[in-house]
Amino acid sequence: LKTIVWFRNDLRLHDHPALKEASECGEVLPVFILPNHASPTASDWWLFESLKSLQQQLLKLGSTLTILKGEPSRVLSVLSKKTQADAVFFNGQVDPVSRREEMALLESESLSEVNVRRFAPNMLLDPTLLKTGAGDPYKVFGAFWKSLQQQTIPWPIAAPASLASWIDEYPGTIPLEQSGLRDSIDWDTSFEKVWIPGEAASFEQWANFRDKGLKGYDTKRDFPAINGTSRLSGFLASGNMSIRALWHAVKRAQEEGIAPQPEPFLRQLAWREFSYYQLFHFPDITERPLRPEFLHFPWLEDPAGLTAWKKGKTGYPLVDAGMRELWETGTIHNRVRMVVASFLVKHLLIDWRMGAVWFRETLVDYDVANNTLGWQWIAGSGFDAAPYFRIFNPTTQSKKFDKNGAYIRKWVPELAALPGASLHEPHMAPEDVLTEAGVVLGETYPLPIVDHTAARARALDAYAHIKGK
Ligand code: FAD
Repeated sequence: LKTIVWFRNDLRLHDHPALKEASECGEVLPVFILPNHASPTASDWWLFESLKSLQQQLLKLGSTLTILKGEPSRVLSVLSKKTQADAVFFNGQVDPVSRREEMALLESESLSEVNVRRFAPNMLLDPTLLKTGAGDPYKVFGAFWKSLQQQTIPWPIAAPASLASWIDEYPGTIPLEQSGLRDSIDWDTSFEKVWIPGEAASFEQWANFRDKGLKGYDTKRDFPAINGTSRLSGFLASGNMSIRALWHAVKRAQEEGIAPQPEPFLRQLAWREFSYYQLFHFPDITERPLRPEFLHFPWLEDPAGLTAWKKGKTGYPLVDAGMRELWETGTIHNRVRMVVASFLVKHLLIDWRMGAVWFRETLVDYDVANNTLGWQWIAGSGFDAAPYFRIFNPTTQSKKFDKNGAYIRKWVPELAALPGASLHEPHMAPEDVLTEAGVVLGETYPLPIVDHTAARARALDAYAHIKGK
């Protein structure tokens, strides 16, 4: 059999069901179709690096990656005609755009003679498997997690040992350097100091976390100044790492006594699973709140507030540190992600979808499921979300989770010389303390763009407007 394998958010060789099956059935032509988004994003940088790494790995197996552009069902039908392929295999995805592409491919008339097959997505389990007693999709994480723990997670599939192909190089392939991915954004200069994308790097990152972080994860995961989380999200979002492989690697670390109680970490992997699961069952949630009353929420138009938030100039040091970390590194620590997101939707009353779009543009680990559900959780519009009336106080969060200010000092250097409590709320600092630290509020660092107490009261008023609708 001559099979085209369409790579998507599964840029790896291990645990790649479509690739493995194709390699066992005969010859393989690996293909990637470039994304067609309107504006470039930070995750394009990750994608470029992942494709580079995948190309190198495929070469080692005796294969090359064909890169093409266009609407997938059309591109793949032209390709299969020109190469006389017998089959097109791919792994499924759960987001609505990808699923539409899959349906177009599966139903394509021009591929009616070709064996088109969809394999399992990068999830722990098939999203149709878990259901409540009444046969509905789970809406509450606790029950979902309980049910997930009772399942047997399939073992990851080994990478093929070699790949034979009936074509050396497809003439229409786009050289990766000319894909437009590398030059698409102009703020990625520091990304390479922080990240090495790709499958091999994902294994290294995991090994490092397994040996140094997994055991203490639960106590360290909330403190942004410490390297206390796995930092695997970019690898999981791009599919450089398979979630099943990670799940079983954690279980193995448990058996070997490296981390006797890894549940807190597995629970986070289950939150990812729950996001994918919800996006699969409720595909319009990238745009629509899961709780319909939020359709009536009186969001504000506040372009100046939105810009201050994006640039990390809100006058709240933890919020500003997070937004600058995002810009510089393409990621934000989860605790701070929650604080900055809450600040946008509650302190500024700006629609969560505006925040989700900014994260889509700037996160290297952008993942449509995790991002959508993360924002709906924070906004209170998700099924099992933080209630809207629970409003994070950014100053209290800062004092609690960045107690000695190391994170703020790193990302908001103009405040670095401020001592202790003043660092968390410079606008409350005595004049002489500010002067000594070289801080001039309103000049070197902004005054708070909203007052916390007033903003909190305004948010609760806005919530009262939709309650009971
Ligand atoms: P770890 O703490 O080491 O967790 C391991 C893995 O579990 C992560 O890599 C991720 O795949 C998963 N995970 C952890 N926390 C969550 C969570 N709350 N929800 C879903 N999965 C989780 N994550 C993304 O991967 N992409 C996004 O675009 C994204 N956007 C978010 C937007 C908002 C508003 C919020 C509040 C959270 C968002 N998250 C997103 C979830 C979370 O912040 C990141 O997954 C996490 O910070 C990544 O760091 P880590 O790999 O070190 O996580």
